[in-house]
Amino acid sequence: MPYTPAPARYDSPAFYRRCGHSGLKLPLLSLGLWHNFGAGDDYANSRAMILRAFDLGITHFDLANNYGQPAGSAETTFGRVLRENLAAFRDELIVSTKAGYDMWPGPYGDHSSRKYLLASLDQSLKRLGLDYVDIFYSHRFDPETPLEETMGALDQAVRSGKALYVGISNYDPAQTAAAARILRELGTPCLIHQPRYSMLDRVPEQGLFDVLKREGIGSIVFSPLAKGVLSNRYFAGLPTDARAVRDPRFLKPDQITPALLAQTHQLDAIARERGQSLAQMALAWVLRQPAVTTALIGASKVSQIDDNIGAINNLNFSTAELAAIDKILAS
Ligand code: NDP
Repeated sequence: MPYTPAPARYDSPAFYRRCGHSGLKLPLLSLGLWHNFGAGDDYANSRAMILRAFDLGITHFDLANNYGQPAGSAETTFGRVLRENLAAFRDELIVSTKAGYDMWPGPYGDHSSRKYLLASLDQSLKRLGLDYVDIFYSHRFDPETPLEETMGALDQAVRSGKALYVGISNYDPAQTAAAARILRELGTPCLIHQPRYSMLDRVPEQGLFDVLKREGIGSIVFSPLAKGVLSNRYFAGLPTDARAVRDPRFLKPDQITPALLAQTHQLDAIARERGQSLAQMALAWVLRQPAVTTALIGASKVSQIDDNIGAINNLNFSTAELAAIDKILAS
C-alpha cells in the first residue's frame, strides 16, 4: 500500500526534547510495540498505528526481542512496515530494541551475558530487516553477570556498527550510576534509561531521576498510562477489547478495583477542568519532570494515539493542580 507521510509532521519543533546531554532529540511521545503488534494481532491495525504515529511526528518506536506473541513477532511486524512503507524514511526514525528477558531455550537465551546480548541483537536486526538499531538496551540488571560484561556488550554493539546508542532499563539508582561509570570509561556514554513511571508508580522519584540528571542521561518512561488504567478505558466496566480482558498477563481484571476506579474518576475531573482527557493529563504529568525526555505509550487503536498526542496542548500544571493530584493519589 503506497504511503506518503503527512507533510506537517515536523511543524512543532517544541515536540522534540534533547535526551540527557546527548545530541539526540526524541519526540515527547514515543510508541511502544509491546502489545498489539504481534503475529496474532491484526496487521492492518498495527501498521495504521505506526504510520499514524509517524504522521504526528512520533519518530521513535520502541521494541524488544521478546515483544509480541510469539516473542519476536513485534519486531517482524515493525520490519514489515519498515520495508513496505517506511524504507525511504529510515533516517527520520529512531528504532530501539532490548535484550534481557527469557528469549530462547538453554543458558544463553536469558539475562545479560555478552553471549546473550550480542546474539539477541543479531536476531533482532534480522527480524527488523535493519543493519543497525538506533538504541540497544540492557532490558534489566542481572545480578549474576558482572556489570562490566553487560556494559562491554553494549559498547561492542556500538563499536560493531549494530547500534548507534545504548541504554538501560529497570536498573535501580545505584545500578544506574555504576553502569553509567563503566560506559563512560568505555567511551560509549549511556544515552537513556527506561523506567516505569506514572501517577500510580512513582518509584523513579526516589533517587533515579536525581542520578539521571547528575549523569546527563535522558529517560523514556514506560506505561505512563499504567497500561490503560489512567484513562477512561475502564470507566464503564471491562470492555472485551481492553488489555485486562484480551491479554491479562500483566494487567489482571481484579487489579482494577473499585478504590482504584474512584481515584481515576477523581483524576478525570481534574483533567476535564484542564480541558484534557485523563490519558492526556497522565502523559502531561510524567512530562512535567525535567528528567523525563519522552513518554513511552502503548496503543491498541489509532484513535488512542490521536487522543494522546493532545497531551502536548497543555503540559503545564499549577501548584494547586499538582497538590490536588497528590491528594487523590494518597487517598
Ligand atoms: P501505557 O501505560 O501507555 O498503556 C497503553 C494502553 O493504554 C493501550 O494498549 C490501551 O489499552 C490504553 N490506552 C492508550 N491510550 C489510551 C487512550 N487515549 N484512552 C484510553 N486507553 C488508552 O503503556 P504500555 O504498558 O503499553 O507500555 C508502553 C511501552 O513501554 C511498551 O509498548 C514497551 O515499548 C514499553 N515497556 C517497557 C518495559 C520495560 O521493561 N522496559 C515494560 C513494559 C513496557 P487497550 O489495549 O486496553 O486499548
